[in-house]
Amino acid sequence: MIGPLRPAVGLIATLICGVTPARGQTTTPERLPERAIRRNIPITNAIRRAYAAGTRDSTGRPGRNYWQLRTDYTIHAVLDVGASRITGRETIVIHNTSPDSLRNIVLRLDPNLFLGFTPHAAPWVPAELTDGMVVTRLTLNGRSVNLAPGREPRGAETVSEPSAFGLRLTSTRIALSQPIQAGATARLEVDWNHKLPGGPGNGHRMTQRWADTLYQPTQWYPRVAVYDDLRGWDADLYLGPSEFYNNFGRFDVRIDVPAGWIVSGTGELQNPEEVLTPRARERLAKALGSDSITTIVGPDETGPGQATATPATGDRLVWHFVADSVNDFAWATARKYVWQTLRATIPGKGAVPIHMLFLPGRANLYANAGRITRHALEFYSKLWFPYPFPQLTLQDGPSAGMEYPMVINSNQGAADHEAAHQWWPMTVSNNETWYGWMDEGFNQYMNILSAADVGGRAADRDLDRLGQSYGLTSGNEAEPPMMWNANYGGSQFYGFTTYTKTPLMLSMLGGIVGDSAVQRAHREWAIAWMYKHPSPWDWMFFMNRALKQDLGWFWYYWLFTTESVDGSIEQVTTRGTKTVVTVRQDGQMPSPVVLRVTFAPTGPAIRRMRNAVVQDSVTALVTHPVDAWFSGSRTFTAELDFGGRMITQLWLDPYCRFPDRNLGDNVWPRVDARQIASLALQPGVCRR
Ligand SMILES: [Zn+2]
Repeated sequence: MIGPLRPAVGLIATLICGVTPARGQTTTPERLPERAIRRNIPITNAIRRAYAAGTRDSTGRPGRNYWQLRTDYTIHAVLDVGASRITGRETIVIHNTSPDSLRNIVLRLDPNLFLGFTPHAAPWVPAELTDGMVVTRLTLNGRSVNLAPGREPRGAETVSEPSAFGLRLTSTRIALSQPIQAGATARLEVDWNHKLPGGPGNGHRMTQRWADTLYQPTQWYPRVAVYDDLRGWDADLYLGPSEFYNNFGRFDVRIDVPAGWIVSGTGELQNPEEVLTPRARERLAKALGSDSITTIVGPDETGPGQATATPATGDRLVWHFVADSVNDFAWATARKYVWQTLRATIPGKGAVPIHMLFLPGRANLYANAGRITRHALEFYSKLWFPYPFPQLTLQDGPSAGMEYPMVINSNQGAADHEAAHQWWPMTVSNNETWYGWMDEGFNQYMNILSAADVGGRAADRDLDRLGQSYGLTSGNEAEPPMMWNANYGGSQFYGFTTYTKTPLMLSMLGGIVGDSAVQRAHREWAIAWMYKHPSPWDWMFFMNRALKQDLGWFWYYWLFTTESVDGSIEQVTTRGTKTVVTVRQDGQMPSPVVLRVTFAPTGPAIRRMRNAVVQDSVTALVTHPVDAWFSGSRTFTAELDFGGRMITQLWLDPYCRFPDRNLGDNVWPRVDARQIASLALQPGVCRR
């Protein structure tokens, strides 16, 4: 529309020309700042309500009135290998620890994603179309839930009997005739069955079988959605790309499969004497006694009596697992799994088993998996907090890059990354559906630190350049801000926003406060939120306090916008012993001014400056805090007085931590594009 733009164009013309408005017209301020910098964190209504209720507060720690639901599951599942179908009978005890009486229960039925008509978000293609999650019986506190009720009640309308609406969607609402009172528990029983989808898909986490010989069930049982202090029921549909937001609770799971099929999963196996051979039990008992890999079931040991125990009657075995305080449960089974075990040594805890289950023909994909996973568990335990679970299992199959509590569907390719997910979302349970970056982005950052540790490098060198590189992306219309719901990030930017951008942000943060300070603050935050559900605001406010800085401007520009700094050295003049450097920022995001000064090798002694660190005989690093920009100017003059030694070169942002479009204008004297390409390869440029 052109019409409404006209007054705005007129206003801009007035400001540029500096024409004094005629008497009687609305006046504009004498002089608007060239760049107004927002310095606080945007607060939404949900956060405002949480602060008012005291469930969260601006310390970033759980509030004095913090609460979260607890859901305990007992599941008996039977796998029909011929039909690739699981049939389950499940009891969920819902502990309503909220201050609200609940008039609904929201159930997540993710297998309905494989019904042809369910909504999907990009980028994803379903592996196979199935008949979805078939619920055959549902009771609440012993009372039947109507599975085929009439019209769904609206607003304050009530139902005369508990009724399920949307059983063919990935998110289903059970309307209750009697609410679950605050502090009460409710018992939900569900009978269900569904086909496990195979087919090619595009390697998605829910491609769950290879023919009828290997199954990796995930998101496989009806689960109760999160009800929290921010948004009430998390009733959003499961759309494919974004992951989960789950309650913590206890899982007691029995899995009934053909004898000879090994089952692995979340939790600890409760009945090894019923399902394992004496030989396998003996090997397992010894596995933690050495640093080498122990084969529990070898490639030649197949079928009942070899791979597993022989059942006392019939041709099936029931594997029983229990896990306390986890937010999901996953498992796998195959006709011919090889099972190997090694140990990781967790500080303050001791040896924890790492199990690997893979097909005999794919042993090459697991040759390094044990070593990588052991390093991950030990390194991340030191970086954040000790690995809290009693075991970790790697499961082979079509999904080869996915995480669940104590389980990673991964070979060596993604072992470091997937193991890292045991910290988030498995222990620090971020809402990864909305804020995928608090899951995948934090993970990518720690993977950089882990890789540096393996390579024997200081990690800060690997974090250099990252922050600056965002300048090349910033400004793309298709990029959503990180505080946008990740499901709607779009196919072009889902991966960037969810995975890649967080390490770039943390590279810049390290460029301001130091990388070790970032990691210390993040560790304190993680420990404060173990087994809880922090929001992005809790993280931002916690980091502010832990870093003893008001970083409102930093969080605003990185998380709520797609702006960059785009700094440059505009002008340099020298008079006597003084050099005046004019630094300009063309972007909306401010940053500290960091200048590396290179001196001639000889001349007058280099005098010390208050805000400069002399790095060696010919270089000094000058820093001005970000406050330099808060007055609204786009230029800042840094006065250097090092006592008359000739300055031969100046570099703005020498560690390349601040988003920038053009590295070429960060150096003085200016160099042309070809020279900058070769300069950027030199030691000391964007590199320590
Ligand atoms: Zn991940």
